[in-house]
Amino acid sequence: MNDTATKEPAPAFTRVMLKISGEALMGDQGFGLHPPTVQRIAREVKTVHDMGVEICMVIGGGNIFRGLQGSAQGMERTTADYMGMLATVMNALAMQSAMEELNIHTRVISAIPMDEICEPYIRRRAVRHLEKKRVCIFAAGTGNPYFTTDTAATLRANEMACEAIFKGTKVDGVYDKDPVKYADAKRYDRVSYDEVLQKHLGVMDASAIALARDNHLPIIVFSLDEPGGFKGILAGEGTYTTVHD
Ligand code: UDP
Repeated sequence: MNDTATKEPAPAFTRVMLKISGEALMGDQGFGLHPPTVQRIAREVKTVHDMGVEICMVIGGGNIFRGLQGSAQGMERTTADYMGMLATVMNALAMQSAMEELNIHTRVISAIPMDEICEPYIRRRAVRHLEKKRVCIFAAGTGNPYFTTDTAATLRANEMACEAIFKGTKVDGVYDKDPVKYADAKRYDRVSYDEVLQKHLGVMDASAIALARDNHLPIIVFSLDEPGGFKGILAGEGTYTTVHD
């Protein structure tokens, strides 16, 4: 049998960071975790893992708790932020469980040590996991209050030498205005970090964009709701926006 005839093209990247918001896991419930949605996303990740791509993940916590909202309602800000970070650990464990159902080896790696539940963050150990094709789910954000999981994803992507951050959203890229509200909203194919910051295009928070810009790390914004979308981009297809230099 001719091997080359059946071979799929090599993926566009060998190591990537997938950032998804906590809200992506809640389905239509408006709050918390919706296991079938978590399982659906795990299947999307598996298709990319099956291509041999090394995968890091950061999942937000906004489906459970956001520090800013807590502090707006009178909570002390740092405590509220720690609660937000704990929420990301719950989401990471839910994703690990869904991935293991699909026989993908994963490690949940927390910025805040909680050894009975998951591994502490040790950079060299995490790199080794990736080399062994284990999916690394980085939890508890950066471990510091006043940050977001967008910044955590950018930080870990740099530390792990990822070639790009894939930001999974509800829409297929970055638009000049909200495409859900405005029918004439235009999607960018490519947009610079500075334009994202100047026009407040809402890709990620400003510190995450600046950290990506300073380290020349492309951000690929794509729709997580599009079946096969994640794999498609790795295979050089699909609709998305690249944020770049
Ligand atoms: N958080 C934090 N430091 C970090 C990452 C997250 O304090 O490095 C807290 C913060 O309160 C945030 C919450 O965790 O509101 C959940 O993260 P995020 O809002 O980024 O989640 P997402 O919007 O992606 O679901």
